[in-house]
Amino acid sequence: MSPQFRQTVHTTCPYCGVGCGVLATVTDAGVKIQGDPDHPSNFGRLCSKGSALGETLSLGTRLLHPEIGGIRTGWDEALDTVAGRFRETLERYGPDSVAFYVSGQLLTEDYYVANKLMKGFIGSANIDTNSRLCMSSTVAGHKRAFGEDLVPGCYEDLELADLVVLVGSNTAWCHPVLFQRILAARRADPKRRIVCIDPRRTATAEAADLHLPIRPGTDVLLFNGLLHYLRHNDCLDFEFIERHTEGYAAALNMAKETAPTVPSVAAGCGLAESEVAQFYRLFAANERTVTLWSQGVNQSTQGTDKVNAILNVHLATGRIGKPGAGPFSLTGQPNAMGGREVGGLANQLAAHLDLDDPGHRRQVQEFWRSPRIADRPGYLAVDLFRAIGEGRIRAVWIMATNPAVSLPDVHAVRRALSACPFVVVSDCERDTDLSRFAHVQLPALAWGEKDGTVTNSERRISRQRAFLDAPGEARPDWWIIAEVARRMGFGAAFDYRSAADIFAEHIALSRIAGAEKRRFDLSGLQTAYDELAPTQWPVDAGNPQGTPRLSFDGRLTFVAVRPQAPAHAPDTGYPLILNTGRIRDQWHTMTRTGKTQRLTGHLPEPFAEVHPIDGSRLELTDGALARLESRYGSALVRVRFSAGQQPGTVFTPMHWSESNSRQGLVNALVNPAVDPVSGEPEFKHTPVRVVPY
Ligand code: SF4
Repeated sequence: MSPQFRQTVHTTCPYCGVGCGVLATVTDAGVKIQGDPDHPSNFGRLCSKGSALGETLSLGTRLLHPEIGGIRTGWDEALDTVAGRFRETLERYGPDSVAFYVSGQLLTEDYYVANKLMKGFIGSANIDTNSRLCMSSTVAGHKRAFGEDLVPGCYEDLELADLVVLVGSNTAWCHPVLFQRILAARRADPKRRIVCIDPRRTATAEAADLHLPIRPGTDVLLFNGLLHYLRHNDCLDFEFIERHTEGYAAALNMAKETAPTVPSVAAGCGLAESEVAQFYRLFAANERTVTLWSQGVNQSTQGTDKVNAILNVHLATGRIGKPGAGPFSLTGQPNAMGGREVGGLANQLAAHLDLDDPGHRRQVQEFWRSPRIADRPGYLAVDLFRAIGEGRIRAVWIMATNPAVSLPDVHAVRRALSACPFVVVSDCERDTDLSRFAHVQLPALAWGEKDGTVTNSERRISRQRAFLDAPGEARPDWWIIAEVARRMGFGAAFDYRSAADIFAEHIALSRIAGAEKRRFDLSGLQTAYDELAPTQWPVDAGNPQGTPRLSFDGRLTFVAVRPQAPAHAPDTGYPLILNTGRIRDQWHTMTRTGKTQRLTGHLPEPFAEVHPIDGSRLELTDGALARLESRYGSALVRVRFSAGQQPGTVFTPMHWSESNSRQGLVNALVNPAVDPVSGEPEFKHTPVRVVPY
């Protein structure tokens, strides 16, 4: 490492959607990492992952030079090869024969340029992102209810709420700094209550005042029951419903029909009547209620409906956009929100404008001065790799993500990549489970080396700043994409000198969104890029300092949602339900967190938690190895007996792959069923069996 800066740099953690501010100081002894006391999302706190960032900066495994076929080459040759092969494929097979698969790890500026190249210049919407795997159900639910992908509240609401309801979220491990804020608020006022709705007794459930160990997949039933209960007990805000919403009657009728009584809800959700009644009473009694949710809601074949079932009860009680009250989606990745803002999903345009609106398409095309504009959604992540496997996509560029580990039914994904005529991978690391499929590898800058912005779960845009020299020949992702665009003949539109140029264009495009009455509007942002302080959008003429909470004066929509079973039920061959998730000290495929012993020491190998009753019935031994098997694949795991696991279910973390464990590729097992509205995969419900090894 060759320190470039001696001063302390204000930057942002590259892991979860909490988006904590970080102070990075380069010293002769290495990089010192501290929480940024001035950042309003964390006020100086960091979790175990964030505080270990300084130990993850080694260059030993980095991709430092472009490679073609595994052989080092120069940038010119690599970029010409990528541009040439994409151009040839386009000319021969048309715009829908190529695709980008990008990432919530990209900075907003990188995302913006990738989306612009694909949708405006190549003319296809075949750009999807790993955010499809974590929060696309929330995007779809928000759009159905609000007309736009909006998180109404802010983190401060969690401290103002008298009741915090956590649904399908192990916040204590996956968004630890926010959980610390919630616990601190309860310590300050012990009357505050925390309810955790989760099939597992997680660290979050342990800390909650009430844990509802719900049957997997029954959240819609529970929240329909709540809507009906609130109506029955006269707890609705009819003034809000009449002035601001539509669809209430249909949603209530559906709730009455599907969740008529507390006993019927309790039976359907596998809960005690007293537990359901206690939750409903708490919700009814506390005006200041925030409901948070995460992947337990989103990663489901009914994920979008689950989101709307939650939104329905907040609309019905008028608890939205008020201090201490609102629905709140916890974003998984550091910049999933930024990606949503630039249209980085295959069914979005840019700046919260709509791909299916000809007027919006025309305005974006004029703004970009692009020769064409995509006019229909592209393939969503799971279908995108299916299309590669079926030969419909013949050239793919994968940026800052590892679908050879993280997608469901990952063996099918790997078969597709092996058959693909042209695979480009831009990444920081050289040897990954994905790199073996790459025809061209392009070295990208990593955290600490690159400049840009990210948006966290509370709509707060923060800067990531470089404090290290670029190693080897690594370059910013936006530069790599712009260079390929230039070599494809689109140079004038991609003539950026810095991330600041791109951000300025992003702000200018958001003016169109503001004029179209979209809440995503940055037109009031006047601060110089280098000085940009953490700011919550919208930032418009009326809110030049940003907007912590969104008020609603337009029509909001109830969605009548009917409870449905997950796609695949357990059977005699595969009698257990597999639920995958995260552990406290690892991030995604462990590319960075796997580099420090401080983090790998917490839970060092792939494991599966089973209830002791299942363990003895299946003749498993606590601490021994076993094979997890589904119809799609298998993985070798260490068995851990856990009374916090429901009988009939298995939990296993999703971080491990073949490159960091013997045979622990968990996503080989996961079924590729997806939510029909959002396309988000059902990571939380795959029938499996566990066999002693
Ligand atoms: Fe980073 Fe999230 Fe931990 Fe904050 S809570 S330090 S953003 S991983």
